[in-house]
Amino acid sequence: MTAAPAAAPWRRVAILAFAVLAATAALTFGPVSSMGPFGALSVPWLALLVAFAACEVFLIHIEHRREAVSLSLSTIPLVVGLYTVDPVALVAARVIGSGIALVVHRRQAPLKLAVNLGHMGLEAVVAILVFRALAPGGELGPASWPAAVAAALASDLVQSAVLVTAISLYQRRWEGALTETMALGTAARLVDTAVALVVVSVLRAEPAAVALLGLAGFALVWSYRAHTALRVQHRQLEHLYDFTQVMGDAVLAERTVEALLRQACDLLHSDAAWVYVERGGKTHRVGTTVEGALTLAEVAPGSPDALVEEGVRGRSRPELITATATPALAALGVAEALAAELRSGTTAVGTLVVADRSGEVRAFDDEDLRLFAMLANHAGMALANSQLVDRLRMNADESEYQSLHDSLTDLPNRAHFSRRLEERLAAGSALGVLLLDLDGFKDVNDTLGHQHGDLLLQQVAKRLRTALRHGDTLARLGGDEFAVLLPDVVGSQAAVSVARGLVAALERPFDVSDVSVEIGGSVGVALSPLHGMEADGLLQRADIAMYLAKANHTGVEVYDAERDGHTPERLALVGELRHAIAEGHLEVHYQPQMSLATGDVVGAEALVRWQHPTRGWLPPDEFVAVAERTGLVRPLTSFVLETALRECARWREGDGPERISVNLSARSLLQPTFPDDVRTLLRDTGVPAEALCLELTETSILVEPRRTVPVLQQLAQTGITIAIDDFGTGQSSLAYLKQLPVGEIKIDKSFVMTMEEDRADEAIVCSIIQLAANLDLPVVAEGVESMALAARLRGAGCGFAQGFGFSKALPAESFVAWVEEWRKRPGVGELRVVG
Ligand code: C2E
Ligand code: CA
Ligand code: CA
Repeated sequence: MTAAPAAAPWRRVAILAFAVLAATAALTFGPVSSMGPFGALSVPWLALLVAFAACEVFLIHIEHRREAVSLSLSTIPLVVGLYTVDPVALVAARVIGSGIALVVHRRQAPLKLAVNLGHMGLEAVVAILVFRALAPGGELGPASWPAAVAAALASDLVQSAVLVTAISLYQRRWEGALTETMALGTAARLVDTAVALVVVSVLRAEPAAVALLGLAGFALVWSYRAHTALRVQHRQLEHLYDFTQVMGDAVLAERTVEALLRQACDLLHSDAAWVYVERGGKTHRVGTTVEGALTLAEVAPGSPDALVEEGVRGRSRPELITATATPALAALGVAEALAAELRSGTTAVGTLVVADRSGEVRAFDDEDLRLFAMLANHAGMALANSQLVDRLRMNADESEYQSLHDSLTDLPNRAHFSRRLEERLAAGSALGVLLLDLDGFKDVNDTLGHQHGDLLLQQVAKRLRTALRHGDTLARLGGDEFAVLLPDVVGSQAAVSVARGLVAALERPFDVSDVSVEIGGSVGVALSPLHGMEADGLLQRADIAMYLAKANHTGVEVYDAERDGHTPERLALVGELRHAIAEGHLEVHYQPQMSLATGDVVGAEALVRWQHPTRGWLPPDEFVAVAERTGLVRPLTSFVLETALRECARWREGDGPERISVNLSARSLLQPTFPDDVRTLLRDTGVPAEALCLELTETSILVEPRRTVPVLQQLAQTGITIAIDDFGTGQSSLAYLKQLPVGEIKIDKSFVMTMEEDRADEAIVCSIIQLAANLDLPVVAEGVESMALAARLRGAGCGFAQGFGFSKALPAESFVAWVEEWRKRPGVGELRVVG
């Protein structure tokens, strides 16, 4: 709580007021009472009294350094009175006239009234004494003017002395600004004196003209007041605007209160303001002190603060409270205060008190009360909002946490990971990104259910964490995909060893609700700056490496640009490809497949082509990989499949080739609806399942055999032939061929094309043909570029061939024409190859 001044200051001020009033009375009934009228001029006493009252009602407000200084014009009737009325009557007119105005119009508190009436009376007495001492007896002309000016200045001095004494008694400090205000007051007094002397001169020459002068003067004062009222209003609005701005900024409760109090003091020229707020069932007083610090104190029940607060609580409108009506206020060392309950809607949020303007002695007036009401209104809303904002903040922190963390494992999520990665990259530090994907997680989910899957993920998260250092960031990107950010990792060796640690951590079986579960993980590693400086790019490269690790069953792979088709140009293709698929800019070409036994066209392989708007015809190697990595492969495959099947249906209506082969990506097999989609297409096009061959590479099947093999089985059961494409390039053993529903083997062209020169390749080709024969599988040799090679393959026992030696892939129409041409050749049914 702020300390109240030691001895109640108002008591000392009361003594001063009494002393001044006593001096006034003594002088009035002593030396002054013996003085008669000054000269021949006279005005009615009552007129003078009214003039004094009017001067206190119609104050002149002057803007001075953003402060509104109010000046009374009372020097005019005072100086006029010196010339025109009995001295005692002048003192009486001054005290009574002004007193009525202060009580009735300004509703001044007794103490303030006493001080004011005291200095007014003394001013009048001193002015009379000085004037009478200096003015030549009865002289109404210019000779008396210096005396009038001296009298006015003397009265000014008296007023200043009394007020300054009162203020310093009251608050024990001198306010610098007051001297400036007083200088302004002195200047105004001189002007007033001049006006008064004009009035006296007019009275001498033509008394009736005073009415005209009065009219002119009234018009002048009135228009000036109208003008300043506007300016004051403007200034207050400005203040209020500042206030709401500050309040708008103040998001924390404490800052709001502080801003509120400072603005209140500023706006109402007060030194002290405080609020009573309820926190945790207790009332607290938060206030400003003269030093400007914010003080906080608990309010004890029954204390003056508690009494003041209770007095204000529940009042419907802001009001002026005085020490006389509220003794508790006096106990706080305050004579007058503006107080209001702060509300937000109908809820009380606190109580605001702005203490009297000790620095000015002027009381709060109606204008101040109006301003205070507005302030209290804003403050209530601001205070409520600040509490609201505080609450929202807490909620926001909570939801921010949620938005950055995975709810299942409580690990950072993808957004969080990306953010951290970006920050690190922005700081220019070397780092490693590991991407880990669980192997066989889907089986757990499928066989044990999602609940077990979730439990497993939680355990995995814990184990992975134990394999990392403190500063490493482990995140769950989604599904069974985790990422690790290794700060300050230079060179791949350190990153690889961490990656191996992660894989090793998963080796021990997991115990999921009493079921022992074995899973593995594949990790891709990308390093910055070696593999890129951008978060997205690094993640993508770690992803590519991870896929390689999975496909090759190596556990860990470091990104290698040579094995990656994801150059920036290719990435740019993604958007264009999406567009191309949607707009039908893709085409399917057909490459004939020949029976080496009969020399006839038995089928065709559908190969996709893209008429790129600027790059012309693009071979699939340039964009199929892109499609595979971006989810575009699904619409791409659908397009090729449908187009090829429709074309095949047309061939079958005539006497064209019976069969069509279509290439598939691994992704197609991971798509659960794929077998159904194919069956639907077969039905729609009327092509029997036996006429369709789907080509897959070993790697695409073995990436996730537990998911792909069942799909292959479904397809095979439908009657579709599954061909192993590019056979011989995969690293896996041939044993799996027995377990897979494979119906055809396609020997990779890299062996076939060179088998005539390379004996090793020839051996590979021959052993594949042998193997296929043992398994009773038909074999297609790819890349047969010459008839001689075809003959050789036939000799080795190969049943079918395709290659440039017969034809490259052709657009549908050309293909049909090519088949017709081929069949027109003499000796169809025999292989037209010179052996
Ligand atoms: P692939 O399945 O091995 O297709 C055979 C590729 O060998 C074709 O290249 C074909 O033009 C080319 N080729 C055929 N005969 C010869 C020859 O005698 N000598 C040489 N040097 N090459 C020959 P293409 O059309 O560029 O296709 C490349 C690869 O793109 C295909 O390899 C296939 O894996 C993929 N692909 C093509 N179309 C599709 C499709 O519709 N879907 C999917 N998923 N992949 C496709
Ligand atoms: Ca193929
Ligand atoms: Ca191939």
